[in-house]
Amino acid sequence: MTTALAPATADNPWLNAQRQFDNAAEILELSPGLRAVLREVRRELVVRFPVKLDNGKLRVFEGYRVQHNVTRGPAKGGLRFHPATDLDEVKALAMWMTWKCALTNLPFGGAKGGVAVDPTTLSHRELERLTRRFASEISVLIGPDSDIPAPDVNTTPEIMAWIMDTISMEAGYSIPATVTGKPLEIGGSEGRPSATGRGVTIIALEACRHLGIDPDGATVAIQGFGNVGSVSALLMAEAGFTICAVSDVTGGIYAAGGIDIMQLNKYRQRTGHIAGFPNTKPVTNTELLELPVALLVPAALENQITARNAGRIEARVIVEAANGPTTPDADVILERRGVTVVPDILANAGGVTVSYFEWVQDLQSLFWEEREINLKLEKIMQKAFRQMCDQSHAHRVSMRLGAYLVAVKRVADATAVRGIYP
Ligand code: NAD
Repeated sequence: MTTALAPATADNPWLNAQRQFDNAAEILELSPGLRAVLREVRRELVVRFPVKLDNGKLRVFEGYRVQHNVTRGPAKGGLRFHPATDLDEVKALAMWMTWKCALTNLPFGGAKGGVAVDPTTLSHRELERLTRRFASEISVLIGPDSDIPAPDVNTTPEIMAWIMDTISMEAGYSIPATVTGKPLEIGGSEGRPSATGRGVTIIALEACRHLGIDPDGATVAIQGFGNVGSVSALLMAEAGFTICAVSDVTGGIYAAGGIDIMQLNKYRQRTGHIAGFPNTKPVTNTELLELPVALLVPAALENQITARNAGRIEARVIVEAANGPTTPDADVILERRGVTVVPDILANAGGVTVSYFEWVQDLQSLFWEEREINLKLEKIMQKAFRQMCDQSHAHRVSMRLGAYLVAVKRVADATAVRGIYP
């Protein structure tokens, strides 16, 4: 098996994303010109904008919207509100969106955006003003035919509603298809809030089938208990897995015999946290990654599994619910140790797939039932899993590289068919 062709890139997500692309471009024997096009982003917009705080003072924030590639359709990708967000992170996330949409064969290119902000330091009114002003600042790029944002870390359906309303007010008419992950009342889709976690569960089941692991009772540790992590925990438990550990930014809880996720959700609703849930013991986020479980599901941020801890991962399978949780250096170590990594561009693609369904429903003003949506989602995810495995076997490479071979080839072929303008 071969994975590491390019030099080490450590923890910069953009350099890591480019290195993953280079590995695939090498095997696909892409021409130097095409490589140069695809390993850079098409457009990057940096905005600095003032927000009036509740105390009357002004604070200036920095935000980003990056489109990596729009060859196969409008750009698609989430918006992140996080203090550590910067241009390189957003560029990496935008490139990963291009490959994710291509792997699942959705008619979209890839984009991402974000604001460098800790939203917990803002009041609800301040958050609304920040969101609306940011939406206005990036409105030169976004719209149903050009670039469609969605939720990501620390952004919610309510925030998507403010964006939809801002863009609509500026246009003078309602444009629901301008953003996905909206509340149902304004053109959101059934199944969207749980779509990413549902996709993670579908792919975890496929991976188990592929590797001969019985999912019934197979133990799982999940890092991150937000939209993706908490839904993955619930649906994986429903599918028969035993969820032994979960965590959020403050730390985690562990019970070797399993955690009742329904009861944990009730406990969190009551107390606001997961720490101290009865019959569990505390673990740090670092310890959680190294627990003796069958499956590890990172569902928080990038760079959690690196060359520093990859040698100590005990899980047999890593299902990447987060974007970029494993660095290329860690990939090499994990592959050598026989740990299977199911890559982010497949494992968390359920979100963008149902976002695609939401966009289609908004454009046709005709809405589907959740059962139909979940069935369509399962078909797309399973097909992408098969296509990834086919390439991974054909070239004797990791699943990540197999997924990239499918995705990069689709974008490269589309570019060749369109030709270079003018
Ligand atoms: P979220 O804001 O709902 O939840 C993030 C969770 O991670 C929270 O529980 C938070 O406490 C925890 N967290 C934050 N920093 C952490 C740290 N350093 N260590 C451990 N836990 C930490 O975000 P989300 O939407 O669930 O996104 C999680 C990941 O999934 C991100 O990588 C995101 O890009 C990816 N993703 C999200 C979607 C989606 O539809 N929301 C789709 C595809 C991929």
